[in-house]
Amino acid sequence: MSGFQGRRIAVIGAGPMGLMVALEFLKKGAAVDIYEYDDRIGGMSATFDFDGLAIERYYHFICGPDQPMFDLLSELGLSDRLRWVETKMGYYFNGRLFPWGTPQALLSFPGLDLVTKLRYAAMVMRTKGVSDWRELDRVNVIDWLKRWLGEKGYNSLWKSLFELKFHEYTNSISAAWLGTRIKRVGLSRKNIFKELLGYLEGGSDVLLQAMDDKIKKLGGRIFLKAPVQQIVAASSGKISGIVVNGEHKDYDTVVSTVPIQYIPRLAPQLPEKFRKQIDSIANIGVACVILKLKHRITENFWVNINDPNIGIPGVIEYSNLNPVGGVHILYAPFYMPTSHAKYRQPDQDFISETTAYLKRLNPQYSSEWILSSRVSRYEFAQTVCPPGFYDMLPSMKTPLAGLWMADTAYYYPEDRSISESVRMAKVLVDAICRDSAS
Ligand SMILES: Cc1cc2nc3c(=O)[nH]c(=O)nc-3n(C[C@H](O)[C@H](O)[C@H](O)COP(=O)(O)OP(=O)(O)OC[C@H]3O[C@@H](n4cnc5c(N)ncnc54)[C@H](O)[C@@H]3O)c2cc1C
Repeated sequence: MSGFQGRRIAVIGAGPMGLMVALEFLKKGAAVDIYEYDDRIGGMSATFDFDGLAIERYYHFICGPDQPMFDLLSELGLSDRLRWVETKMGYYFNGRLFPWGTPQALLSFPGLDLVTKLRYAAMVMRTKGVSDWRELDRVNVIDWLKRWLGEKGYNSLWKSLFELKFHEYTNSISAAWLGTRIKRVGLSRKNIFKELLGYLEGGSDVLLQAMDDKIKKLGGRIFLKAPVQQIVAASSGKISGIVVNGEHKDYDTVVSTVPIQYIPRLAPQLPEKFRKQIDSIANIGVACVILKLKHRITENFWVNINDPNIGIPGVIEYSNLNPVGGVHILYAPFYMPTSHAKYRQPDQDFISETTAYLKRLNPQYSSEWILSSRVSRYEFAQTVCPPGFYDMLPSMKTPLAGLWMADTAYYYPEDRSISESVRMAKVLVDAICRDSAS
C-alpha cells in the first residue's frame, strides 16, 4: 500500500508483536523506528544467559494450530528450524504422579469416576470443534466446567489450577478463555494417543534475531534501553511524536505494543472514559523460577499439580521438549496479582519453595542436582478475561488521532503465544491501513 511511503511511524515495544508491526509497515514503505525499554529485543520471549546457556526467560512451546508463526518462519527462511516432539504430560494429584493427556491416562486416573471421565472426554472433543467463541465468552468458566464435570470433577481437576493462577479473580474468567487453550493443545497431536509439541532449534531467539535482521535490512531502526516516557499529542488531539530519554521525536503515527495499562500514564491527554476502560482490565503477574539441573525430575514436559501441599499449578520440564546441551531445565511459574505481598518476596524464597516441592515429584531428587537457579518476573503475564471480555476491550484505535495500541489482551480468547502476537500485529497494521485509506 503506497499510502505509507515515507510515513514516520514509531513502534513502542520490541516483543514479537512490535517487531512484526515494524516489519509489516516497512514492507509498505514506511520509515519505522522501534523503541524498547529493555536492553534486548523479545519482551516475554527474550533469552538470557543462564550461566553459559542461552535460554528463554519463560518456557515457550509451539502447537500444531500456530499457523501465523509457521507463515512467518517460512517468510524468514526458518521453517527447517522447527522441531516436533512426542511429549508427555503428567498430573500430580494428592501426593502421586500420574500420566495425563491420553485416553489410557484418563481411564486410569484415580481422581474421577467413570461417568466424569466420559464427560471430560466429551468436553474436550466438543471444545476442539468450536470456532465461534462468542457464546462461551458470555459464560463463567467455573459454571461451564461444573456443567460438564460436576462439582467433584471440577474440584479434582481444575479448582486448584485456577486458584493458583487467578487467586481473587478465579470466579471472573470466561469459558472461552479456557476453551481456546483446550482446543490449541488438543489439536497439537500426532494422533489421539500422542501429544506433539514444537520448539525452534536455537529457541525463540532464532526467530527474534531473524526479525531484527530483516527490519534493519528494510531500513528500520531498533533503539534499546529507550523507554518511551510520553506520547505527545497537539491540542487538536493529533499525535505529534514521543518523548524518549527526555528527548522529543516527531512521528505521524505511534503504535504501542506494550501492556495497555501503561498507556494512560504515557498518553495523559486520552479522555477519561477511555482511560477508565483500560484501567478496568486486570492482570496477573508471574515470578517464574528456572532451574538448571543435573537430572530430570520427571519424563514429562508438563506436570499439572493439584495437591494441598504444593503452591504452584504445575512445572514445565523444558528440556523434555528441547534437549538443551546436556542439562535439564525446569520452569516453575508462581502466578499472582502483583499487589500480593508474596510477589515482592526475594527471588531466593521462590527458588527455595520450588526446590522443596521437587522431592515430592521425584523422591530421588537431591539438592546436589541443582546447577543454577534464577527467577524472571513479568507484571503483565496474563490478562484476566471475565465473561463478556470481547466487549471490555478498548478499541485499538485510540481517541488520539494517530495513536494505536494492542497487547496480549487482544489475542482474546486465544492463548498467549508468539504466534498470536504475529497474528495480532497483522490485524493491527491492516486496521491502521484501512483507516488511513478511508
Ligand atoms: C510464563 C510465560 C509462558 C509463556 N509460554 C508461552 C509458550 O509456551 N508459547 C508461546 O508461544 N508463548 C508463550 N508465552 C507468551 C509469549 O512470550 C508472549 O505472547 C509474547 O512474547 C508477547 O509478545 P508481545 O510483543 O505482544 O509483548 P511483550 O513480550 O510483553 O513485549 C512488550 C515489550 O514492550 C517493552 N516496553 C514496555 N514498556 C515500554 C516503554 N515505555 N517503552 C518502550 N518499551 C516498553 C517491554 O520491555 C517488552 O519488551 C509465555 C509467556 C509467559 C510470561
